[in-house]
Amino acid sequence: MSENVVVLLLLMQISNNYCARNELNIFLFSGHYEFVDLTHSFDNETIYWPNSLNFVFVKKIEELGADGSWYAANDFTAGEHGGTHLDAPYHFYRGGLHAGELPLEKLIVPLVIVDMSAKVNDDPNFVLYKEHLDYILNDNNGKPCIIIFKFGWSKYFNDRKKYLGLAENSNELNFPGLSEEVAKWITSSYKNVVGLGVDVASVDPGSSKQFPVHKITSRHGLYNIENVNLNRDIPEYGCTALVLPMKIKLGTGAPLRLVAICPKEQ
Ligand SMILES: [Zn+2]
Repeated sequence: MSENVVVLLLLMQISNNYCARNELNIFLFSGHYEFVDLTHSFDNETIYWPNSLNFVFVKKIEELGADGSWYAANDFTAGEHGGTHLDAPYHFYRGGLHAGELPLEKLIVPLVIVDMSAKVNDDPNFVLYKEHLDYILNDNNGKPCIIIFKFGWSKYFNDRKKYLGLAENSNELNFPGLSEEVAKWITSSYKNVVGLGVDVASVDPGSSKQFPVHKITSRHGLYNIENVNLNRDIPEYGCTALVLPMKIKLGTGAPLRLVAICPKEQ
């Protein structure tokens, strides 16, 4: 083989590798996909679970130097369970993974949206039963996926009383959620579901005292995503979820930036 042929073969090899490596980027940035933020912003008004430390944001330094230079830095403190956040299996199961231990294979996954908002019709006592889902959940080709249930509650996120369904002079909560039956059904018949999400403050209904859904999902290794921001419509199938909680090593949960990569409506 001549030197020229060897060089040519080498160049072909390099360009093949280059193309293969670039395929994902070509796909993602082809103009046919969009990135959708499913996260509520964190500030001093963000809704946290009643017994949890609220998000406290303190402006610390904002300085304009004599030379026109700028420097700013803030502090924040917060509980694990508030705003858009993830519940790790350890939250309700002693043998479960912590927030910082969840593998990426379970966090970057196909997303199925189950839109129940028309059925819920703003009823804070709505509980999702198996019969509501009979039409959904295809086999997802046996790959891991997450299901996010839309109750139509994101529009109340800026009104704490309405969002949590707080009664006058009481700590009783009242908002829609999933039934124990649905949690059992998902964890027993659909082994490929690695996490559940809701656009309310808890996967269990607000009135729940025993939190059966939390207990069942945790025991089966599923994580929960709560307070998903579904103020914007996204396709029920075909999106990929990026579920990237703060990597709190021993967290029972963590603040979450939830993003979906979705095909653009043609
Ligand atoms: Zn939580």
